[in-house]
Amino acid sequence: MFDKLTERLQGVMESLRGRGRLTDENISDTLRQVRMALLEADVALPVVKTFIESIRGKVVGMEIEKSLTPGQSLVRIIHEELIALMGAGVRPINLRAQPPVVILLAGLQGAGKTTSAGKLAKWLKDTEKKKVLLASTDVYRPAAILQLERLAAQLDVAFYPSDPKKPALTLAREALSEARQSLFDVLIVDTAGRLHVDDEMMSEIREISAAVNPTETLFVVDSMAGQDAVNAARAFGSALTLTGVVLTKTDGDARGGAALSVRQITGQPILFMGTGEKTDALEVFQAERVASRILG
Ligand code: GDP
Repeated sequence: MFDKLTERLQGVMESLRGRGRLTDENISDTLRQVRMALLEADVALPVVKTFIESIRGKVVGMEIEKSLTPGQSLVRIIHEELIALMGAGVRPINLRAQPPVVILLAGLQGAGKTTSAGKLAKWLKDTEKKKVLLASTDVYRPAAILQLERLAAQLDVAFYPSDPKKPALTLAREALSEARQSLFDVLIVDTAGRLHVDDEMMSEIREISAAVNPTETLFVVDSMAGQDAVNAARAFGSALTLTGVVLTKTDGDARGGAALSVRQITGQPILFMGTGEKTDALEVFQAERVASRILG
């Protein structure tokens, strides 16, 4: 991920090499290039606009340190702004609520919800020493339920037997009472993802959310999804009170737009990122590291 963006940004910095100072003229030209690089990386337009304006504000008011060239100063500013963009308000996942802590996963089909449910369960079990119950409410795709059941067995995590003949809402309620009765620390509820956002799907997930009262409602988004990711983020964000984001498939060759847009579009922090298909390919999101990676 980010390869192209990194290359483009490095090109921009390179073009400032040898300049003694930043002038109004070369600032405008440079920011235009940065803007192009972000747009090419599929960053959402409103995000690009605020990003560029905040860099402009900083550059214009900047006293360039004697030890830094204009290129280096700009790199530093862009680095800081990337961290602010992706990481503002970053916090760890909230596990301090009264158990069972309920984590609801929402997102489009194929975003990586089921895989992320398994990865999260493993992470919570191994790293946080939590007793986890996994449940699926994807009654439209029995294969998805089976996928989660198999994952749970493989990870040695409890699975609530989710009968696809029952309504999704009933399954969610039953899984919650099982989590309460059997004293689980965390209940992870996977939900149905449709190919496109539709009203029926949104009202179902809203009902499930009201029934299980989640501590965390995580929007799972495929980093390859580009503009679709932005549309889905808006739709899920208006149906549910999202509390965080899981960014998946960051190991792929996505241009990186979703990673840079989703924080601002949802207003919620990226808590985790998926870095592969395996069950341990999940990392706590660190904006600082990702920003450094973008700048190469
Ligand atoms: P769901 O429909 O949202 O439940 O999506 P799935 O969990 O079934 O994932 C869809 C596909 O994406 C599967 O083939 C997963 O193996 C793959 N996938 C999920 N997360 C990642 C990731 O972080 N990296 C890679 N490379 N593949 C992933």
